[in-house]
Amino acid sequence: MKCQKCSREAVIFQRYSGLHLCEHHFTINFEARAKKAIRKHQWIEPHDRIAVAVSGGKDSSALLYFLVSQFGERRDVEIFAICIDEGIAGYRDPAVAGRIAASLGVPFHTVSFQEAYGLTLDEIVERRGDTISCSYCGVLRRQLLNRTARELGATKIALGFNLDDDAQSVLMNVLRGDLDRLVRPTTPVEGLVPRIRPFQPLPEREVALYAHLHLSGFEEQGCPYAHNALRADVRTMLNDYNYRHPATKYALVHLGEELAHLGESVASSLHACETCGEPCQDVCRACQILKEFDVR
Ligand code: SF4
Repeated sequence: MKCQKCSREAVIFQRYSGLHLCEHHFTINFEARAKKAIRKHQWIEPHDRIAVAVSGGKDSSALLYFLVSQFGERRDVEIFAICIDEGIAGYRDPAVAGRIAASLGVPFHTVSFQEAYGLTLDEIVERRGDTISCSYCGVLRRQLLNRTARELGATKIALGFNLDDDAQSVLMNVLRGDLDRLVRPTTPVEGLVPRIRPFQPLPEREVALYAHLHLSGFEEQGCPYAHNALRADVRTMLNDYNYRHPATKYALVHLGEELAHLGESVASSLHACETCGEPCQDVCRACQILKEFDVR
């Protein structure tokens, strides 16, 4: 098929827009939508120091490439990369993310669960079984990423979450009946670095295509524990449903944003943990986990 904007070969068909696009026009279309999301949410402002959370995978690598290509020349915006090494043998290798950051000229920092908490995710799984892998990993990684970004002076943390990830998150919170997360206040919280998700309006397959067109050397293998996550079930269910009702993912993301606005009038229930000092709900989940393993 030919691109509908020019006569070159198309690299993608966007079912929702009905457009066939070549590499050049797909890239323009993709970047315009990410920039529109940034403008809409005022996600990037003058004097921001943006910590991009990188894993070495395609989504975060594509985000780093996008931010450097769009904001790398700006003297009033700084970009650096942080890789959290959970300690998952045969999967997480910070050197992969480090090489991509170096190829883009971006300062790179890495910090591991082992250094920060005294144990790896593999050790946690060995002692508690792999059904808890993702819930424990998520709590510990979020806290370590926030702490590291804050200590490095970041004003924003950029995450490579795409449309599929955000739609899954909303549906997961509904399925868990987690009202707190659905209406979580978006007002600034002391100690919590605000998060931005420039790829929020972009489908997973378009982020993957963007990564393949502009980068090489990223990790394509998935985490060996991923099959345990509720997210894996929700992803399958949502993809199946979305095939028959193509607007579903956009509808879920929109619902998530509307519900988050409701939370703006609610005072944040986050406070500093008495043990580790990080922002937390009633009890600090990270400290609870670490106590289980006698490392706090
Ligand atoms: Fe951690 Fe689960 Fe993601 Fe693997 S799939 S990195 S265990 S959250």
